[in-house]
Amino acid sequence: SVPAAILSALSASARGGVLFKGGAALETLAKVRSFAFDKTGTLTTGRQEMVEIVCEGEPDDFLARLAGLEAHSEHPIADAIRRAAEARGLTPAPVREARAVPGEGMVGVDDQGMIWAGNARLAARMGARSGPVDHPDQIAALHQGAQTMVLLGRGARLIGAITVADRPRDSAGPGIEALRRAGIARIEMLTGDRRAVAERIGTDLGIHPDEIHAELLPQDKVRIVADLAARSRVAFVGDGVNDAAALARADVGIAMGAAGSEVALQAADVALLSEDITRLAAAHRLARRTARIIR
Ligand code: ADP
Ligand code: MG
Repeated sequence: SVPAAILSALSASARGGVLFKGGAALETLAKVRSFAFDKTGTLTTGRQEMVEIVCEGEPDDFLARLAGLEAHSEHPIADAIRRAAEARGLTPAPVREARAVPGEGMVGVDDQGMIWAGNARLAARMGARSGPVDHPDQIAALHQGAQTMVLLGRGARLIGAITVADRPRDSAGPGIEALRRAGIARIEMLTGDRRAVAERIGTDLGIHPDEIHAELLPQDKVRIVADLAARSRVAFVGDGVNDAAALARADVGIAMGAAGSEVALQAADVALLSEDITRLAAAHRLARRTARIIR
């Protein structure tokens, strides 16, 4: 039977918005010495806003096509693009055969043929690294900035790019600081986003550049979690479909509750319902105290 101390800790924790799926996760959390965090939607709000557009031809036409492709995606970036199109009163262009390329973007077919939208890795895959556009200098300038970029192209031809941004959760900096104070030695950031964006946000939150891993595919996140797990018990905190495997691999997988994906919640051992990052240190403290009582 479950010791009373564990039951009482589980219920106290639940009242604070940290929901454990069972007593075993609480006991493992007491032994955790490193935390790995996804960035977008975990340390940041995940509510992206479109910032800039650089494109061939009419920006409205460009945005309508991009929104048509992103209509088929559940990614936070896709949501930002759909909202930007809607705010301009644009109707997304019909796109068929749309499919996601995990960690890279989307591919589909519209009235002019094959169309894709995503990061530099997807662009390179399409052979569009230096494709002709009206404003190559402006796209290069966007690339110099520390913003998340979405490139749009047809085959090897780059048509344009937008940038999107979100902001760190208010609780992210204090939450990381509280974990360090609680004696968590390693705190790492794992993201599919660009290095420049990851470093700008991570260092702002007190994460050392050496602890920031960027431009990762979902399987890279799993590998890094496994590397950390080889040294000490590791907790991974994430929200996305792309985080499910890393959540499952971690000693303690912690999913963002309300805004997180269903798949992430299923793969996790713990749900952070409040989305307040400072609650993690509180849960860790409670887990350690409980472990001392039952021993
Ligand atoms: P993260 O760890 O930031 O949640 P993802 O694996 O979901 O990363 O995505 C990694 C990168 O792939 C994004 O930063 C973005 O550049 C690109 N990407 C993924 N999905 C889309 C999409 N629907 N539209 C445009 N770009 C996308
Ligand atoms: Mg995420």
